[in-house]
Amino acid sequence: MQASFKILGITNERSECDRCGRTALQKVYVIETDTGEEFSLGSSCIRKAYQMTQREVTSKAKQDRQRAEEAARAEFKATAAYRAQKSYLHSPQHHEDMKAHGFSYVKMKLKPWQEVRQTIAAKHRVNVATI
Ligand SMILES: [Zn+2]
Repeated sequence: MQASFKILGITNERSECDRCGRTALQKVYVIETDTGEEFSLGSSCIRKAYQMTQREVTSKAKQDRQRAEEAARAEFKATAAYRAQKSYLHSPQHHEDMKAHGFSYVKMKLKPWQEVRQTIAAKHRVNVATI
């Protein structure tokens, strides 16, 4: 049985389980309960709390992460920053800028758009490279 909760990811910032108090855990999951509260839990406590097998926990973590990435991607694609970046990258201007000024100039031009992307990735807690 899987209650409605989300696995937001694995954190390196904590090594303590909120359910049992165990410390020095190697892998700590951050979950969001159906009431919107966040907790850090070791995998054995997720299994106990939600009556899941480790295989189910692992596959749910993957599934939830993919959903978060899709949501982040969709959100970024709906922004003006995405459209501006896309049209710039496909323009002759990009090519000319590269030729005339090089990578760092182009990088500087891309920066404000990349910041939008990073903000969205952080909000959804996904790696910016995946969106
Ligand atoms: Zn625990």
